[in-house]
Amino acid sequence: MKLLPKAQEFWFITGSQHLYGPETLRQVSHHSQQIIEGLNNGGRLPVNLVFKALLTTPDAIRELVREANNNPQCAGLVAWMHTFSPAKMWIGGLTHLQKPMLHLHTQFNRDLPWDTIDMDFMNLNQAAHGDREFGFMNARLRRPQAVVAGHWENAETQTRLAGWMRAATAWQEWKGARFARFGDNMRQVAVTEGDKVAAEARFGFTVDGYGVGDLVEVVNQVADAEVDRICAEYEELYNVVPALRKGGDRHASLRTEARVEAGIRQFLQSGNYSGFTTTFEDLHGLDQLPGLAPQRLMAEGYGFAAEGDWKTAALLRAMKVMAHGLPEGVSFMEDYTYHMEPGNEMVLGSHMLEICPSIAKGKPSLEIHPLGIGGKSDPVRLVFESPAGRGLNASLVDMGNRFRLLVNAVDAVETPAPLPNLPVASAVWKPLPDFRTGLEAWILAGGAHHTGYTRAIDPTVLEHFAEMAGIEYLLIGEDTRLAEFRDKTRWNDLYYTLSSRGH
Ligand code: MN
Repeated sequence: MKLLPKAQEFWFITGSQHLYGPETLRQVSHHSQQIIEGLNNGGRLPVNLVFKALLTTPDAIRELVREANNNPQCAGLVAWMHTFSPAKMWIGGLTHLQKPMLHLHTQFNRDLPWDTIDMDFMNLNQAAHGDREFGFMNARLRRPQAVVAGHWENAETQTRLAGWMRAATAWQEWKGARFARFGDNMRQVAVTEGDKVAAEARFGFTVDGYGVGDLVEVVNQVADAEVDRICAEYEELYNVVPALRKGGDRHASLRTEARVEAGIRQFLQSGNYSGFTTTFEDLHGLDQLPGLAPQRLMAEGYGFAAEGDWKTAALLRAMKVMAHGLPEGVSFMEDYTYHMEPGNEMVLGSHMLEICPSIAKGKPSLEIHPLGIGGKSDPVRLVFESPAGRGLNASLVDMGNRFRLLVNAVDAVETPAPLPNLPVASAVWKPLPDFRTGLEAWILAGGAHHTGYTRAIDPTVLEHFAEMAGIEYLLIGEDTRLAEFRDKTRWNDLYYTLSSRGH
């Protein structure tokens, strides 16, 4: 991913009190540093934890929180109470904390030393009740909470902590992020609309609209040498069909798309944008619907969605940051069509053109085909299939009084047969818990046809993300039962009507 996430780190803080005396506090500090070293060396965390402070007074806690709020590198706090830290000390700090916080409920020793355990040991290793005191204060203050319980050397504990960190880095990334929208919403489409003021207030990103002519101006000024360079890169990275290669009778179309790619990239770079949308209804001055260009830019880390869908473009960028450094990719996706064979039902996901090659199985093929709608020149596009395995689709919808993040866990499967006539990239999956329940729950919840699709992260990462944003989170997964799911949507309606956490 070329468009890297902002440089970030997480601050580890340990709570205690002076009652224990300096010797115990030194030990607490030492243990904290050993834990951090172990976590950082575990190979699972996306960025480093830094030991920030052993906190024993309300003033020190308030000061630490001020510092965390103001430090752009700090993506969040990881808090642990090795000993007892009376939680009234934390009120002043926690009520002002603006960064995400995870409560790591762990213990320095994995095993109890049964034959030597004495009261000194008991007084040092008190997370079992020290963390409960801290937990009470977070609950009492109605703070968004994330808790991971388990020994710090345990792989699952580290993976779960890493998942929360991935969510927090994406959350931090959205602060001040900018998305460009070429053209408006596809006419009459409802789910891709939404309240941009509410979105900026809640999420921290802005969406700027442009006439497609603003982009065309940049595209037309792209140097031929840049077009040459990009075309050479295509030949290196993809199986380019002969007609599109240098000397082929459609090579001009490839150069046109390379020019569009370079133009959009320059436009995004100069405006500091981390994602964009297009719409096939507004292409004045562009020869073809950008297809390959969004595919390439998505693979570089840009958020993208078609038809003016700025919410999915922003979500896609967030998911790209969550998945940063992991082997699997993230793509814009659309539930396109169904295979309804009894007992073997599947969804074929795709789009008119714009699926990200970061989810490709094998080397993509670069092809040119006519586009069924739009009445423009034939667009070039990367064609590929996607690998099998557990994955998810995520959709961010505007419910009018709140945003809803809807996630469906899916089992991606190998494409059951060759697709010789399908001129677009695709993925095939089976929704959880089963085809019927997955589809019905998605539709009851108002989930969009556009999603972010990935096999890189699991739903808990998105759950943390929704919690940080203070928005509704609904999962359709292995344990989903339709009647309960429907009730949950109703209870949530009431919750967001009564609470201040809506728009
Ligand atoms: Mn679409």
